[in-house]
Amino acid sequence: MAQADHEMTSKMEFSGANLRKFRTVQNEGGRSVSRNVDVYNLDAIISVSCRESSEKAFFVGGLNAGTRSISPDRGRGNIMSKMSIAVVGGGLAGCECALRLARDGHSVTLLEQKPAHRSPAHVSDCLAELVCSNSLRSDESTSGIGLLKAEMRLLGSDFLAVAEGCRVPAGKALAVDREAFARAMTARVEAEGNIRRVEKQVSSLEDPVLEPFAREGGRVVIAAGPLASHGLSSSLAQAVGAQHCYFYDAIAPIVWTHSLDHSVVFRASRYGQENGEPAGQGDYLNCPMSREEYETFYEALLEARTVAAHGCEQEKHFEGCMPVEALARRGARTLVFGPLKPVGFVDPRTGRRPWAVLQLRAENANNDTCNLVGCQTKLIQSEQARVFRLVPGMEAAEFARFGSMHRNTYVNAPLALADDLSLVARPGIHLAGQITGVEGYVESAACGLWLGLLLSARARGRDLPLPPAESSLGALLRHLRTPARHFQPSNAHFGLMPELGERARKKDRKALYAARAQEAFRAWLQARREEGLA
Ligand SMILES: Cc1cc2nc3c(=O)[nH]c(=O)nc-3n(C[C@H](O)[C@H](O)[C@H](O)COP(=O)(O)OP(=O)(O)OC[C@H]3O[C@@H](n4cnc5c(N)ncnc54)[C@H](O)[C@@H]3O)c2cc1C
Repeated sequence: MAQADHEMTSKMEFSGANLRKFRTVQNEGGRSVSRNVDVYNLDAIISVSCRESSEKAFFVGGLNAGTRSISPDRGRGNIMSKMSIAVVGGGLAGCECALRLARDGHSVTLLEQKPAHRSPAHVSDCLAELVCSNSLRSDESTSGIGLLKAEMRLLGSDFLAVAEGCRVPAGKALAVDREAFARAMTARVEAEGNIRRVEKQVSSLEDPVLEPFAREGGRVVIAAGPLASHGLSSSLAQAVGAQHCYFYDAIAPIVWTHSLDHSVVFRASRYGQENGEPAGQGDYLNCPMSREEYETFYEALLEARTVAAHGCEQEKHFEGCMPVEALARRGARTLVFGPLKPVGFVDPRTGRRPWAVLQLRAENANNDTCNLVGCQTKLIQSEQARVFRLVPGMEAAEFARFGSMHRNTYVNAPLALADDLSLVARPGIHLAGQITGVEGYVESAACGLWLGLLLSARARGRDLPLPPAESSLGALLRHLRTPARHFQPSNAHFGLMPELGERARKKDRKALYAARAQEAFRAWLQARREEGLA
């Protein structure tokens, strides 16, 4: 069960160079309890223990936010410095991160706003709530998300171990009994002696409850999710700059470039021909539509089924990221004056301007996936496939990611975060989960797991190199490090990985991506295990 919030004040006295005495006063269940705690000067101890291999250097006294203790980690040849860490948000990323850190002996204070405060999507009093679907998606290694799960299992993910125990039949997907899953995760967190769960809504990054953890030796992890409370989201926006913090997410589908019909789709920039751009060059791929083809697409778009708005989501869209189907409802020609406008293009097959043009912009440097410009959508996924395949050149399009729209607090990670997912503007504060710009249950948990491993490695005075770009986790984490004009959250998919570098047959591509990822990840993991870091 949740514990009462602790108020803590410290008075520091000095006694010699290597020892500090702290008087801590805590409010425990309404009683004011004071304790004297001795804390060694860490830097002096580390230098002595490293020089003399002393077994005696260790922290004396209780857990105290903002202080570090150290323990020899000789089997692995590292000195472990124990940290006190505040994790804000007991969702998927927060629980996974907290469990990882606690397992490594760190003292974690998990601050969760429920049950006193809830986002409109959270209904349970448990931690690690799955707010919508009960599916954790494909468990097959021939998908980016299946590979990510396999890599997380190798890293000892609690999230996946618990999910396995709550599995319900779902074919090739891993689906869980949502309530059993949240109960089991909560029990696992509460059984972990190094985690102190506190019911508390953190009001901002400046909330006094975080102050002791911001001191030397402490860390703060913000894992408050896509629906982070208003005060905390605003404070985050202030820290990273309002232009680097987003509160809404409008995602257009992404398709594989190789799956387009290149006898129809042509490469050109708008007004490129008029400006002397050589044929076959330019920044965009373009799908030209005749009037009849456009009308067929338009009618299908109007009739297609959309995802029902979640209770918490208002059907309110910014003009710049209006769903394409909502825009279409304004009139038959709204799209041809908007995202599908044909001006400045000449179809090389006819030598004339098409009636409408759907543009595709390269999604990554390899050009192997591309984004349907202006086509953010709330259509259900099967309808997205059906409707967009009516566009000439896209009849056999394979989707790397489907479009979606929902409320989502996330930062422009490549600019706002450092390599260790800490805020560039506030180095002691790290982000984890969906708020970093990953998308999805499993991806959010993976991000929390990664940060836990990274902080633990740092506590040993070591750095944890990113998993290889060819692996699913490595590709996902690199997404957070790759600057983009319009940075958008991403789930795990093969399109984030480097291209195969061989002319693979279409039907072999997934297996080749998977085999390469597995080999690269195993080699990386083996090296980290030898270093005692994973
Ligand atoms: C409506 C909706 C539906 C979604 N559906 C799916 C889906 O079907 N499948 C999928 O893969 N992904 C889905 N997602 C995306 C996403 O993967 C999940 O939201 C996922 O839970 C994110 O994990 P997280 O740990 O980052 O955040 P969360 O799991 O949301 O955890 C954040 C926690 O922080 C707490 N918190 C917030 N603010 C504070 C504060 N100030 N102080 C203390 N605690 C705080 C919250 O109460 C919550 O427990 C959905 C997202 C939304 C918004």
